[in-house]
Amino acid sequence: MLAEVHGDAPAPRWTLQVYREVEAGLHLLPSHGQCGAVLDFTWLGEPAEGDVLETLRMRPLLGGGDDPHAHLGEAESIVVAHASGAVFVTDDGPAYDFAMRATNLGRAGVLDACGILWQAASAQLIDEGGMLDFHHQVFDAGRTMRCRCRMWPGGDSLDDKLRNLRRGR
Ligand SMILES: [Zn+2]
Repeated sequence: MLAEVHGDAPAPRWTLQVYREVEAGLHLLPSHGQCGAVLDFTWLGEPAEGDVLETLRMRPLLGGGDDPHAHLGEAESIVVAHASGAVFVTDDGPAYDFAMRATNLGRAGVLDACGILWQAASAQLIDEGGMLDFHHQVFDAGRTMRCRCRMWPGGDSLDDKLRNLRRGR
């Protein structure tokens, strides 16, 4: 669906740090299948490398404490989006908020999964039932989405709970 909505946009479509995170996910049982599928997406093309200094400077601004790997993918993606005029897509709450607040990517330059679904809906690639299913599949997989829309099965409070759990990791 992302390919259908944004696949025609000029490269870059992902970054080296995100590629490495997906590659690392290959070795984790729960994410093995999904990560393998992402690595097979030829439309993503070559991962772009963001300016290292800018990426390292931005990373701690996105939270994540002392973990040197936390938010590296998001930081590099924001740096690359800035440099190339690309749209930054993330379901990471702090990274989304930071990109909206503290960069000039703007409202049209930052998207989450729910935003992609709405774009797909307006292009008639998915209907409301499909959007609902997507939210439920993410929830059932024990993952969370940034959105607090009415389709998220856990409602606001559970969404917050999952978000906090993820932050504590
Ligand atoms: Zn939503």
